[in-house]
Amino acid sequence: MLLTLFACIRRPRPKNLTRPWRVTPFMQYITLNNGLKIPQLGLGVWQADNGQETINAIHWALDAGYRHVDTAKVYKNEEAVGKALRTASIPRTDVWLTTKIWNDDIRAGRTATAVDEALARLGTDYVDLMLLHWPVDGYLAAWADLEKALAAGKVRAIGLSNFMEDHLADIIDQGEILPAMNQIEYHPYLVQADAISLSDQHNIAITAWSPLMQGEFLQEPLFADIAKAYDKTAAQVVLRWCLQNDIIVIPKSTNQSRIQENSLLFDFELSEEHMVAIDELERNQRFGPDPHNFDF
Ligand code: NAD
Repeated sequence: MLLTLFACIRRPRPKNLTRPWRVTPFMQYITLNNGLKIPQLGLGVWQADNGQETINAIHWALDAGYRHVDTAKVYKNEEAVGKALRTASIPRTDVWLTTKIWNDDIRAGRTATAVDEALARLGTDYVDLMLLHWPVDGYLAAWADLEKALAAGKVRAIGLSNFMEDHLADIIDQGEILPAMNQIEYHPYLVQADAISLSDQHNIAITAWSPLMQGEFLQEPLFADIAKAYDKTAAQVVLRWCLQNDIIVIPKSTNQSRIQENSLLFDFELSEEHMVAIDELERNQRFGPDPHNFDF
């Protein structure tokens, strides 16, 4: 009964924000509602240090073909991210850089200053995407500040993170500019159909945080079973399921072989039968905080 209910509310597939998804040798892009193309795979660096660990991870990722890095003020590693991009063999203009405005800055009405501070820590004069990290008090004023930062060329796109349907509706109704992105917790146990449905209506792209369920995917035998059919790993199956749902993924690892493993997503295609089998794992289970009930 429960499975049937979740199966009914899951997102229709394929959504085709931009294209029929396809198998390519390396890297697919999603076209945002402002026309920019974002690489569908990025490296997340939450809980990585502000030094060599993060620099190495980003260099390994770029060598493996990633062209997208996701950080935030609260990760306290923007300086290392900036250093990694300045010392990389890939030009900065080829790498999508996302960072986020932290909750204290949103509450204090200091988003405009926080944008400048982020650029200074990153050692860059622009970021590709700036997100409001959580829907805390003051998010409408903060959104207006991001719109100004966009007009000033400090950011190429602006978006949200952890905005549920009600928060998102506020921004859509009261903002001047539509968000390009909503970054939310998303994985086979949690697909957040309501927030995604409203995003889809406005062509707001979705990035999955914790796409690997913070490592807990290893406890789910179905992924390993499906992986055998494609000569792939369980991690690659979970990430591929996200990609085939038109979701951008930012798996985190600082381990070179896992970074490489997580990049090998573009040379196979899960069958509809396997996609549906993974869909049916949905159980509304979060590994991170609930955006309607958090205390930070
Ligand atoms: P994740 O789902 O990416 O899982 C990371 C864990 O999986 C780590 O323990 C890692 O060692 C393990 N792992 C990675 N690849 C593996 C592999 N191939 N095999 C086995 N284990 C593997 O979790 P996450 O870090 O929570 O999320 C990813 C990124 O999302 C973060 O780094 C951050 O950039 C972003 N994020 C954003 C928010 C937000 O509020 N916007 C919240 C959490 C995370």
